[in-house]
Amino acid sequence: MPSFIYEANAARVIFGAGALPQLAVELERMGLRRALVLSTENQRAEATRAADLLGSRCAGIHAGAVMHVPVEVAREATAKALALDADCMVAIGGGSTTGLAKAIALEAGLPYIAVPTSYAGSEMTPIYGLTAGGQKKTGRDPRVLPRVVIYDPELTIGLPPKLTVTSGLNAIAHAAEGLYARDANPVMSLMAEEGIRSMAGGIPAVAAAPEDIDARSQCLIGAWLCGTVLGSVGMALHHKLCHTLGGSFDLPHAETHTVVLPHALAYNACAAPNAMRRIERALGSPGPSAPAAVFDLALRQGAPVALRDIGMREADLDAAVDLTLASPYWNPRPIEREPIRALLQAAYEGARPE
Ligand code: NAD
Repeated sequence: MPSFIYEANAARVIFGAGALPQLAVELERMGLRRALVLSTENQRAEATRAADLLGSRCAGIHAGAVMHVPVEVAREATAKALALDADCMVAIGGGSTTGLAKAIALEAGLPYIAVPTSYAGSEMTPIYGLTAGGQKKTGRDPRVLPRVVIYDPELTIGLPPKLTVTSGLNAIAHAAEGLYARDANPVMSLMAEEGIRSMAGGIPAVAAAPEDIDARSQCLIGAWLCGTVLGSVGMALHHKLCHTLGGSFDLPHAETHTVVLPHALAYNACAAPNAMRRIERALGSPGPSAPAAVFDLALRQGAPVALRDIGMREADLDAAVDLTLASPYWNPRPIEREPIRALLQAAYEGARPE
């Protein structure tokens, strides 16, 4: 076995259906008295519910989170937190809302409780992103980690069916790349395989019965595990491609992960056979190869499988290759122009990988 370094990110996790009311207890435990509740405009109702539960410990609601954390949005929210004399935040929502809390934590040093309602997994990572002038920059800083994470599967019942599938595949992508990461380690690989298994089992169960709390719990546990992997080991070609397509061509985050993952896995299959075996085992071997099994999972659930169906222009594929090659991430197989161009063409057309 190769030598490795294992470093865990500290996290207090409260998991359970109906766990949201723990918010006030957790703030009290930490000695915090005035929380600004963050959400998107779409989830103002959830933010209001959290504010009601906090009572006098709520400083206000800011329902201004949007995708990719534009700097102006982060500045406005930070100013509001300071103006309201908030000493902490509660971020209730998906990766966009957690991202806003991270930006405020970095700028103003305020601690926060994350209440994730999608499967993006940002709450488990010290990675933050900020967008200025159309360019998204990411960084790592332990100060952006939440002090507490409350996973309440009841809050995910409202996650629209399409986003349930694509957000779930976004989570699977973190774990899949974690299995062949340069700094992979046995503990993270255990979490990655179990995260894929949990999510891949949960997605069809939720599709069959969206209000089934056991199925929702299974997906949320999967999201936690996959997010932990994302926060602990390095990502490779798949995440590079998705950051390029999302950042420079404005493609939607979770859908892009869903479409690209089978093709990135196919690209890496020969260079990472052990990772592929573990992905196949998690997806229910004997069965198709890892890339085909991920593709089939998306297709069966009605998720998009072609870049052309989520807003990509064929004329932009060459530019996407240039951007990918200009600053590649480490990858188990060298990142080369011709095969990457072929990968993007296959993803554009939605071809099932062999
Ligand atoms: P999102 O947070 O933008 O959510 C999409 C929409 O769904 C929003 O309108 C949101 O309010 C709504 N929504 C979320 N949960 C819901 C629920 N349970 N019920 C009803 N509506 C709900 O999308 P996302 O995919 O969760 O996150 C994407 C963003 O997170 C991207 O900007 C991505 O870069 C970032 N991200 C960051 C990390 C990290 O480690 N820093 C990890 C993953 C994703």
